[in-house]
Amino acid sequence: MENEIKTAVLYSDTKPSDAQTERFVKFLKEKYQTGIELCWEKSEGIKNGFRLTVGNDVYDWTLDGRFRQLKKYIKSMAEEETDLIPLLKEGIEKWTPAVLSSETGTVLTVGDCVATVGGLKNAFYGEILIFADGVKGMVQTVDEDICGCILFDESEELLAGTPVRHTGKIAGIPCGTGFLGRVTNALGLPIDAKGAIESEQYRPVENAAPGIISREAVNKPLHTGIMAIDAIFPIGKGQRELIIGDRQTGKSSIAIDTIINQKGRDVICIYVSIGQKTSFVSNLVATLSKYGAMEYTAVISASAGEAATLQYLAPYAGCALGEYFMERGKDVLIVYDDLSKHAVAYREISLLLGRSPGREAYPGDVFYLHSRLLERSAHLSNELGGGSMTALPIVETLAGDVSAYIPTNIISITDGQIFLESSLFYSGQRPAINIGLSVSRVGGNAQTKAMKKAAKTLRLDLAQYREMEIFMQFSSELDEETRRRLLYGQGLMRMLRQKQASPLELHKQVIMLIAAMGRCMQKTSPDQVHEYLESLVSRIEAECPEICRGIDDKGDYSPEDEQKILEIARSVGD
Ligand code: ATP
Ligand code: MG
Repeated sequence: MENEIKTAVLYSDTKPSDAQTERFVKFLKEKYQTGIELCWEKSEGIKNGFRLTVGNDVYDWTLDGRFRQLKKYIKSMAEEETDLIPLLKEGIEKWTPAVLSSETGTVLTVGDCVATVGGLKNAFYGEILIFADGVKGMVQTVDEDICGCILFDESEELLAGTPVRHTGKIAGIPCGTGFLGRVTNALGLPIDAKGAIESEQYRPVENAAPGIISREAVNKPLHTGIMAIDAIFPIGKGQRELIIGDRQTGKSSIAIDTIINQKGRDVICIYVSIGQKTSFVSNLVATLSKYGAMEYTAVISASAGEAATLQYLAPYAGCALGEYFMERGKDVLIVYDDLSKHAVAYREISLLLGRSPGREAYPGDVFYLHSRLLERSAHLSNELGGGSMTALPIVETLAGDVSAYIPTNIISITDGQIFLESSLFYSGQRPAINIGLSVSRVGGNAQTKAMKKAAKTLRLDLAQYREMEIFMQFSSELDEETRRRLLYGQGLMRMLRQKQASPLELHKQVIMLIAAMGRCMQKTSPDQVHEYLESLVSRIEAECPEICRGIDDKGDYSPEDEQKILEIARSVGD
């Protein structure tokens, strides 16, 4: 058996030095006496040392592993002798790593993709375990003798008593540019029948978020192409903006439109679909392909029919893929659709693992579940390449209740939320963004000058209009001033209506806003606002292309440009 082994793999965070490599080669020669080739693989999960795998044998060469082994040794020796100092000396000098994988465990209980395993004393959180029939699982809870494990496959052959082996490997997914344009499951395996995907790196699904020093403030805009968002709730690269609302209020559509708008802007998009129907995913891919957006998008899907364990893992896997690109200096946009279903999947797993439930039957650590995911979004400093990962998590509410457990958690983790309302949606105001309850806390710093200047008091005007609208429901006679204000507000609301998959370029949004804020639409009835704005934009595009180019390229315009736009806007209205 040993003669068949050709290579030994050494895992560690940093590359071993020549002296260290020499030591490992010597160790292999002594243990196996054959010409085994040693190769190194980067594994970020292994700090303070190395992990060596030779065929089935795993050696723990980390600091923790050494301590554990030394402790055991000294304990056993101390029973016979009393003087500890020479024992310590001997223990340190004689230390060679013991085989970890000789430790086999057995399945104690199994069901619903969760298993408890006994006898694996050296298991660690996040480790992949292999069950006798090839099923893989990930360690989630570690007790003294028992560990709880989530399974990636369902298998009928898995019974109580089935043997379980260590792998010493942290759960991760393969990453690489090959994933763009593809649909994979939560383990990074393709599910689109387009063949295998070539990967460039294997990354742990769980990873620590970048620290304070590694981050740069959010200062670059990420345009969604949706005017209501870009003008009032601007999103910056590296920001986390929650999309929240009842079912069927256009949440996913906002995320999809944002992805479509990234075409030609050098942004890599990742769509993580959690607990959705398979038909949704196939429609999503069809829509993205139709607009040429699949070229720069990777889709990770754990649909409703799949095991809760895969639904639980999917967003972390997507995030790991996003980090791969972010660390290479790219701008990444990641959508988690949706995190309420993720929380439900986690609740299921936790209850099966025997964790005690708390509020709304979720375990108490559900906050950590999402904070450790969303904190991984960042705008990295220039020293680290200046890449960014912008997150658009989606949460579904019940009857508009934003004060439920999961929504309040995620609202407090993110940098703002876009709140979608059913009543607006059904009244035809789509996207159905509630201006009063939505906010973007950091994106304002990243907004382009052109947008900031053009949007002026839009938010305030809309808020006033909403109040007036409610108040006016009770009165029949309106004076001229009030009527004018109402009409102005209605015009603004109409302007913010936007069809799906029709993102507006920056210059179009700015022109429309300048005209609207300059009260040029007063003579236009709300029903004709869109026609008016369309003809205005096409006239300016034809007559002053340099203004449009200036806004798109430099993100700014001069006071003369503004006068010119207003002049044309007034003449279009006549
Ligand atoms: P779910 O809760 O099922 O996930 P959702 O909130 O994600 O729903 P979507 O699936 O995005 O909502 O949209 C719901 C419906 O509204 C779809 O049929 C979509 O076509 C329509 N819709 C969304 N946005 C718009 C829009 N701007 N204009 C017209 N129709 C829209
Ligand atoms: Mg949806």
